[in-house]
Amino acid sequence: MIWIGGAPGAGKSTLAWKISRAYDLPLHPVDLWAYDHAGRLPPTAGLDDELAAGATRAADSFEADAARRLALVVEDVRARELGAVPALVEGPQLLPTFSGELPTGRGVWLVPDPAQTRNARAERLAAVPVDADRARLAALLGRDAVLADRTRTQALAAGQPVVDVPASPDWTAIGTAVEAPLGPALRTSPRLDAGPSLSTQRRFENGVASRQGQLWSAAVGLPDAPTFPFACECGRTRCAAVGPVTAVEYDTYAAGGPFVVHEHL
Ligand SMILES: [Zn+2]
Repeated sequence: MIWIGGAPGAGKSTLAWKISRAYDLPLHPVDLWAYDHAGRLPPTAGLDDELAAGATRAADSFEADAARRLALVVEDVRARELGAVPALVEGPQLLPTFSGELPTGRGVWLVPDPAQTRNARAERLAAVPVDADRARLAALLGRDAVLADRTRTQALAAGQPVVDVPASPDWTAIGTAVEAPLGPALRTSPRLDAGPSLSTQRRFENGVASRQGQLWSAAVGLPDAPTFPFACECGRTRCAAVGPVTAVEYDTYAAGGPFVVHEHL
């Protein structure tokens, strides 16, 4: 595995997505396994109860949940049968304290300025207005700030690299800073072969996103299903095309064969 961790709102998903395309690596966002993992773990207190206990306690709960999910993340990546090709795993659940067995140069942690996290959450809410998320925004931002502080402290203690994400990020510079510690691993690791191997892994990733998206839409009761940038499954090296369709629309396309964006959209 190659890890991109860090507190919410740091731009991890976008950066990991770009790296996965540039290097033809399998992408594994932990957030897309939320419902799957919830079904495999004992029930926990709900998010609102956790947030009601205050920022510090909510951050403790988040970290405890991350610890429970770590074994599942490892299981999920193994089940992808990637051989020697590393999965690019990203998510706020990848705490620096868990990096003990990760070889050097295989992880990087982003620490967002609280203003950046606020902007990122506001953008997400504007794109997909979930009432429950709006109601808990202040509490989430309080917890996120604690998580960001802890990321820095833990990463320094673990000797892992940290990249700061300021309130008005220069994403090109941040992308360069994230790739710097990972550079040797990215350049020397085996990649997914163009053709069926790459196509199959993008299809797997789309399936994960579709399942999570449908469970999430149902859980939050959105009137209109949001679109998601489903990946092109053409299997060409470094293809970065996406088809912004709903999860149900994706499933319909996928039932007929690979979702090739150049053909469908
Ligand atoms: Zn393509």
